[in-house]
Amino acid sequence: MSSCAVCRGSFEPFLSFGRMPIANGFLDRAQFAAEHYFELAIGFCARCGMVQLAGQVERERMFHENYAFFSSTSAAMAGHFRGFAEEVRAARLAEDDAFVVEIGSNDGILLQHFARAGIRHLGVEPSANVAQAARSRGVRTVVEFFDEELARGIVAEHGQADAVLGANVMCHLPYLQSAVAGIRRLLKPRGVLVFEDPYLGDMIEKTSYDQIYDEHAFYFSLTALERLFGEHEMEIVDVAPQDVHGGSMRYTVAHRGAHARSAAVDRQLARERELGLAEPARFERFRRKVEESRDELARLLRRLKAEGRRVAGYGATSKSTTVTNFCGITPELVEFICDTTPAKQGRFSPGMHIPVLPHAEFAQRRPDYALLFAWNHADEIMAKERRFTAGGGKWIRYVPSVGVSG
Ligand SMILES: [Zn+2]
Repeated sequence: MSSCAVCRGSFEPFLSFGRMPIANGFLDRAQFAAEHYFELAIGFCARCGMVQLAGQVERERMFHENYAFFSSTSAAMAGHFRGFAEEVRAARLAEDDAFVVEIGSNDGILLQHFARAGIRHLGVEPSANVAQAARSRGVRTVVEFFDEELARGIVAEHGQADAVLGANVMCHLPYLQSAVAGIRRLLKPRGVLVFEDPYLGDMIEKTSYDQIYDEHAFYFSLTALERLFGEHEMEIVDVAPQDVHGGSMRYTVAHRGAHARSAAVDRQLARERELGLAEPARFERFRRKVEESRDELARLLRRLKAEGRRVAGYGATSKSTTVTNFCGITPELVEFICDTTPAKQGRFSPGMHIPVLPHAEFAQRRPDYALLFAWNHADEIMAKERRFTAGGGKWIRYVPSVGVSG
């Protein structure tokens, strides 16, 4: 039995991936022997409705001075964050001397838009290397984990905030209760929390099990979040689906009674009841589909190998660590993974130790097939790799189902 990180209730995981390495732990050959492994499993707490990892990896193992994920590597994501910033500025920052705090501000991809407009801001980012990248863009950043104690310190030094923002970060916080208590403390009476994270409904509908890895402590539904914020005298006043990270949801949260609640909230709650996002049977069905998807992808790659086809991975994402380790994708099946992030190049993928090479190697080595690990950026990638496709290169996808396309 596992203990719920939100309500301390107990639950049995509905799906285990077995032994897994740190998802973003791209490593050198000399580090293979000391690589850290843990059992990755996910469960549903029937008491509070939260879908979450069973057991958490110590946060310092994941977020540190060598953290390899820089938000600004995708042009599409840069555009997404520009839109996010504009929306918050237009709708939520009416006051003079507005103050914006971002939790998990990474390399400043979102806050830079506030910094440039001369808006008072503060980024909170535990990974020192990405925080440094933000500072060099003029984004004021403290290297810390966000919790209630830090929120207290921010209020003492800067006052309360008009907006607290989070993009793909709330679901990373195993100490979620403390973070929400801190947000409540940090927000002005009419202030709002606006955050977005991968959405449980999309993950279930698309069988996108690669969203499940150590950094994602929680898989949010509106139903579970509404209960959590309610315990802190807050409420969700708006929701808006986002077409990023394979399907995300943006939530706007305020002190209870401070803002009118949009009709979109009730519509989404009804949709979640239809989807069965609070029913164990739904998760059991998801588990079966995940295991079928794993078997099918492994079969396909073994068949291509037997036929003498060469396969490369496209995008050394954190998500790919779940897929390669769960499906047993060794360097014999996928000879390398190309990636544009310099911090990953020349290193090896966690667990399976597939070489990660610069993007230029993709064209030079001319694989027959590309296994699309960065499937959430498919449109951007297909436009960029027209030459590969035109030259007969084939794409292997596994979300929402395993398939090959030209
Ligand atoms: Zn619970």
